[in-house]
Amino acid sequence: MSTVYLVTGANRGIGLALVTELSTKSTTIVYATVRDLASPDIRELLALAGKNSNVRVVKLIAPSEEDSKALAKRIEEEVGHLDVVIANAAIDGQGKIVEASIETFINAFQVNTIGPIVLFRAVHSLLEKSKRPIFADISSISGSITNGYAPAEQAAYAISKAASNMFVKGISIEHPNIIALALHPGLVKTRNTTHLLDMFGIKDLSEIGGITTDVSAKGVIKVIEESDKSHTATFRDYKGDTVPW
Ligand code: NDP
Repeated sequence: MSTVYLVTGANRGIGLALVTELSTKSTTIVYATVRDLASPDIRELLALAGKNSNVRVVKLIAPSEEDSKALAKRIEEEVGHLDVVIANAAIDGQGKIVEASIETFINAFQVNTIGPIVLFRAVHSLLEKSKRPIFADISSISGSITNGYAPAEQAAYAISKAASNMFVKGISIEHPNIIALALHPGLVKTRNTTHLLDMFGIKDLSEIGGITTDVSAKGVIKVIEESDKSHTATFRDYKGDTVPW
């Protein structure tokens, strides 16, 4: 039986790298979600899906309940179960607590926190049909209460990610048969992190330990593949190292 993955925010950045890596695995089917099926921004993903019949591109705007339910229905009809969800889609939320607009906070929470919750509510019964169900929330070290918040005065982003970490803990308690993971993908050069170049006065994120999307995605997938029930409610990075909550 195929291993069925669902990856959100799959048209660029780490999401695209995750789908690219998963597409090479012959026994894997990947549902790869994008916000707009007509956008020129999804060309690379469509080309990948054109070459690999195990990649299926679907629409999901977080936190739409309608999209999430339609996606779950399609997966139910086509393959009948789901093994791994990688809730990767997210937006930035820059600015200090008193300086960022309230919309910045609302938007970050809508996409980064409510989005994965709505998705989980729609697909958990499909996950329950898997022998090794995994819900991996792509969190961030920014959401670590111990080590996070920095860099870059991203209050809305950091707080929304800390909240999504508690959501992962909640899954582990309410659905003990589902392996619930919070994963930090590393500091990765994507559109999401270009502002850091100016902030740190550098040309390339590798100068401050940044990695490529490819290294991040391969690491995240390895961590997921090697996870079992003993890992539920853990917060780890793309190398499998523990990140303090
Ligand atoms: P990008 O900004 O490069 O990509 C974000 C993806 O999410 C895009 O596909 C985007 O779609 C999608 N997305 C944004 N808003 C929505 C929405 N409302 N509904 C559905 N999809 C949406 O991000 P990264 O690849 O850098 O980050 C991926 C994940 O890793 C995120 O969860 C991020 O918080 C986390 N992370 C990243 C780090 C890094 O260094 N890059 C560090 C720590 C954590 P579209 O193209 O349509 O906008």
